[in-house]
Parts: sequence; C-alpha cells; structure tokens
Amino acid sequence: MHRVILHLDMDAFYASVEQRDNPALAGRPVIVGAPPTQRGVVAAASYEARKFGVRSAMPSVTAGRLCPDGVFVRPRMEAYRAESHAIMDLVRQSAGELVQQVSVDEAYMDVSAQAQGAAADASLACALPLARRLKQVIRTQRQLTATVGIAANKLLAKLASDFQKPDGLTLIREAEKVAFLRPLPVRSLHGVGEVTEKNLSGAGLRTVGDLQDYRGDLRALVGSWGPELKRFAFGEDDRALDLGDEVKSISSENTFLRDTEDRPTLRACLEEQAADIAGKLARYRLAAFTVQVKVRYGDFTTLTRQISVEEPLHEAREIYRLGCWLLAREKLVHRPLRLIGLGVSGLIEAQARQLPLEFVA
Ligand SMILES: [Mg+2]
Repeated sequence: MHRVILHLDMDAFYASVEQRDNPALAGRPVIVGAPPTQRGVVAAASYEARKFGVRSAMPSVTAGRLCPDGVFVRPRMEAYRAESHAIMDLVRQSAGELVQQVSVDEAYMDVSAQAQGAAADASLACALPLARRLKQVIRTQRQLTATVGIAANKLLAKLASDFQKPDGLTLIREAEKVAFLRPLPVRSLHGVGEVTEKNLSGAGLRTVGDLQDYRGDLRALVGSWGPELKRFAFGEDDRALDLGDEVKSISSENTFLRDTEDRPTLRACLEEQAADIAGKLARYRLAAFTVQVKVRYGDFTTLTRQISVEEPLHEAREIYRLGCWLLAREKLVHRPLRLIGLGVSGLIEAQARQLPLEFVA
C-alpha cells in the first residue's frame, strides 16, 4: 500500500477567527496580541498585516511601527481552542481516525487506506477530492479557510501545505519531490533549527539542493542525525503518525456560530454526536460504562456532567438518551449554549458479536 499523508494548516488561524467573529475586521490588518503601547508580543497577524512585515512573536511595538493602521486585538485563547476542537472534529469526520493533531490549527492525516491507486502518484491523486471536501466543509461550517498539502510522508505533506497559502492545495508527486526540495532553504526541513542551520551554512550548505549534492559525511556537521537529514533532503521520511495512547474516551462536540438554546437544534446535535460515537465504538469494538455531556455558555463557562451505568453501552440511541437525560436532570440548558458535546469513557472491549439467531442451536 502506498502511503498518502495529508497535512492541514489553518490560514492565519487566530486572526481569521477574529475577522470572522467581528465582520468590522474583515479585510483589515488585524494583529492579535498586546497593544503597541504595552510590552508584549504579536500572537498572530492577518494576511493584510503580514504584507507590512508583521510576524508572530514580534514585539507589539515593532508591529505598530511597521503597520501604523494595524488593528490590535487581545487574544481570546479559549475561543481559539473551541474552534480548534470544532475543526479537528471535521478533520476526523472527513479523514477517519488516523489523525495526529500537532498544534491548535495543524494536523496530519493518514488516508492511505482510502486513497489507493496502482502507482504511488495515482494514490496521491486519489486524495485530492478528499482534501477539497475537507477544505469546503471547513469553509461552509466554520467560515474559515485552510491549506492542505498531500504527499507520501509527513515531511513532504507539511512542506506542501507551506507552499501556497492561504486557501491552498498542493500535492507533491513522488517523481517531483527531489526537484521540489532543491531550492528550499535547509531550515525548511523538519528538525533543522538555528544551530544546525549555522553548522550547515558554515560548510556552504544553504539550500536542500546543497545537501542533496554534498559528497562529504553530514555526520561531521550535524552529528549522528546526518544520515536521516540526508534522507530528508531527498524527500524520504518514514516517520509514522503519532496517534497517542490507546483510546480512553471518545467524544464529539459542536460549537455554534451563534449561541442557541433551541431544543430541536440541540437534540439534533446530540443525536448526530451519539451516532458518531457509536460508529467509533463499533470500529474499535468497544463499549462504554460512562456517558458525559459538556456544555459551554456564551461567557465560556464550561460544565460537564456524567453518569455511569452497570451494563456497558454501545448503541447510539442509548448514548443519546442518557445525554438528554443528563441535560434535563442538571438543567444545563437554562441559557443559550455556545457548545454542546457528548462523550463516552470507561471503555471495555465489546463482547464478541452474538451469533445471528439462525446459527444458535
Ligand atoms: Mg496555521
């Protein structure tokens, strides 16, 4: 099976959330961070602000000087985290369970099983419709844009998503990877930091092409990491996705663009979440002793309530029913919700599937 890895990267994530939530900021140079009158740094900048040279981690004073018309906005980390959850839910719905989230707005997906062609490059091309759908669903449901890279490994998929932003989609074919890498600075390779960059440039190696052509032993410059760095320079990378520990809980949640207490809307959400959770339980062959609901109000107060049962559950309607019951018992919907979520934990292996009746003696 050929490997097919997607890398998703949200475009100017914090700044885009601010522009979406406050239409007055759309199209303006938004700088998320401390105001320039205070000692502090830029957390994120919109593309309009980046045109002036504003970058994240830059002192706000500098940003204010570069971009005098910049609109400074205080970071709302809780809002970005909630948005991140909503996006990662969409990622999992589109790509399946083989997802490694690497930051608040970035994830790798291994879609090898869903995208199979006869040749490696044909498999990569099979992932294009999936990537387009994911971008589309993020745009329509979250009103945000994402950039996706497709390649045969993590190293290249990340470089592919860096290649054309915002709202980009880049695929690096196996046949093109060596040429694609040649002009890039060594710093763009995974693992090359300031120190390694300095060591390499001391030997005259500035681009990935320089590394490809280097006849000496890279170990003399970067230590034992040399051979892997050489492989990276040729676009070879066999690192697996880090999927974390075994599954301990499964959850699903929805963040609303507008807070709501509309019962049919909330019930429909819970029903969908219960179906989603039951589907995952079935895939992992698990059942759950505990059902949990989570609500978040407009002021970001977040509450969770749970109930455990004696017989483990695995059916969507049971999970849904307990979720509704918890909401009612705890009177959680007494004001509009920003988020509603459902989850299960206390997981055990489901019993071997019962034989259909006709096979029972
Ligand atoms: Mg990003």
